Amino acid sequence: MIAYIEPYFLDNDAEAASVTGQSFDGVSESLDIQGEILCGGAAADIAGKDFGGMNCVKPLAVVRPVGPEDIAGAVRAALRSDKLTVAARGNGHSINGQAMAEGGLVVDMRSTAENHFEVGFLPGGAFVDVSGGELWENVLKRCVSEYGLAPRSWTDYLGLTVGGTLSNAGVGGQAFRYGPQTSNVTELDVVTGNGDVVTCSEMENSELFFSVLGGLGQFGIITRARVLLQPAPDMVRWIRIVYTEFDEFTRDAEWLVSQKDESSFDYVEGFVFVNGDDPVNGWPIVPLHPDHDFDPTQLPQSSGSVLYCLELALHYRDSDSNSTVDKRVERLIGRLRFVEGLRFEVELPYVDFLLRVKRAEEIAKVNGTWETPHPWLNLFVSKRDIGEFDRTVFKELAKNGVGGPMLVYPLLRSRWNDRTSVVLPEGEIFYIVALLRFVPTCAKPSSVEKMVAQNQEIVQWCVRKGIDFKLYFPHYKSREEWIRHFGNRWSRFVDRKTMYDSMAILSPGQKIFNRAP
Ligand code: FAD
Repeated sequence: MIAYIEPYFLDNDAEAASVTGQSFDGVSESLDIQGEILCGGAAADIAGKDFGGMNCVKPLAVVRPVGPEDIAGAVRAALRSDKLTVAARGNGHSINGQAMAEGGLVVDMRSTAENHFEVGFLPGGAFVDVSGGELWENVLKRCVSEYGLAPRSWTDYLGLTVGGTLSNAGVGGQAFRYGPQTSNVTELDVVTGNGDVVTCSEMENSELFFSVLGGLGQFGIITRARVLLQPAPDMVRWIRIVYTEFDEFTRDAEWLVSQKDESSFDYVEGFVFVNGDDPVNGWPIVPLHPDHDFDPTQLPQSSGSVLYCLELALHYRDSDSNSTVDKRVERLIGRLRFVEGLRFEVELPYVDFLLRVKRAEEIAKVNGTWETPHPWLNLFVSKRDIGEFDRTVFKELAKNGVGGPMLVYPLLRSRWNDRTSVVLPEGEIFYIVALLRFVPTCAKPSSVEKMVAQNQEIVQWCVRKGIDFKLYFPHYKSREEWIRHFGNRWSRFVDRKTMYDSMAILSPGQKIFNRAP
């Protein structure tokens, strides 16, 4: 039964349909679902744009499913058609149109957000079953307020869906200890590109389980994930310390992430900033509280054009005394060689710490930069090459900043599962690098083009120099580049595609495979 078709079925449809040669009438007849189907302007409004703001693509229709059967219905309708594709859309926070389907069906996963929320306990520990379309911020709030529990591994920003981050990896300051979010789920419900609804885990349908994790939406649509939980702490001591030398920054960061569980901080990240008073890229971005001042006279004369900041957090309970927390912090901080006098710290509730980027979102929404394009570049760079990367990229190409955070911090490969579809550089330690560019509202279109060109220059430099790196949220235009990206994992990726999405229906916006005729 088609419960509801948006009234405005119009001109735009002709355009979207012309891409696939598909008429909406034809498709709607074969779509047997309980949820809503939106087309025309309503569909384009939901699914025609993303956070990157650099792609604008018209879908044929947006499906707002009630549950997995509706999603399977959309996939099966696409399988029966000549050319139709299907993209799951989480919260549309991709940069390069990865959740779009030109002339295809976009499945709005947010409409299924509340289908699952069940906490359970097994001998291995507590877990929560959540919907693939649920936002991590809602998972956090409910787990903490109703059970005093919380997932272990987070992204910095939580306005992202469970299925969206699991399709990539989901990396943040806890990943050095627990691995990315893909290492913290034990079971999934998936609608495959062949239209099957399958439960999978490490023990059951394990090849599908690992394919989908980090699978860029290519093999199946995640409708439920079982996420591991731990007791939530009450409070967090949040600390930033400044370095002038990259090798001292990396040595301390690597030491911290290599300590045994429980004997280090609970969160370790880092970023590069400009050695100057620029309010967006320089000293003012470091202090954690309006009462803190960054005093540049503390910096040695020899400081260069950019500086480095380690960002650390320690969890504790309300029942822990101040002196116990101080002792734990000093025992670790005492070993680090940051610039004395450039240490900032605050204490805040655990949930507020995890929601810290929400404040930045609110500010960016007020000043308009949440809506302008975001030509972001994310990479994983091996420990072997991170020094060279610093010399060329941070100290030269990006020495004036990128209009937003420039993250760089180490991760441990042994915390990642090799069987997922994610590809990483070689070696146990590698760095995540994120150039999170924000564009002022007054900027000309050419400035966005320059930023995109600089991203390309960085990637090309990495390739030319033989830097051991992988793009995170990869975006390539040619098959050759995808083959290079996956390296010796390419044939496994292709085999998985043949097995679970044999007609190449799913996530066409990744531009890896073409829909089979
Ligand atoms: P979408 O952009 O909607 O989708 C991404 C891809 O996944 C698409 O190919 C889509 O088809 C597919 N997909 C979506 N849902 C499903 C599903 N249920 N099943 C299968 N495939 C699906 N990432 C980090 O790792 N760490 C961070 O700290 C971090 N911070 C961020 C901060 C901001 C402000 C933003 C905008 C992004 C950040 N990201 C971070 C990146 C984020 O993880 C990715 O952009 C992610 O894809 C966004 O999730 P989404 O729910 O919006 O997915």
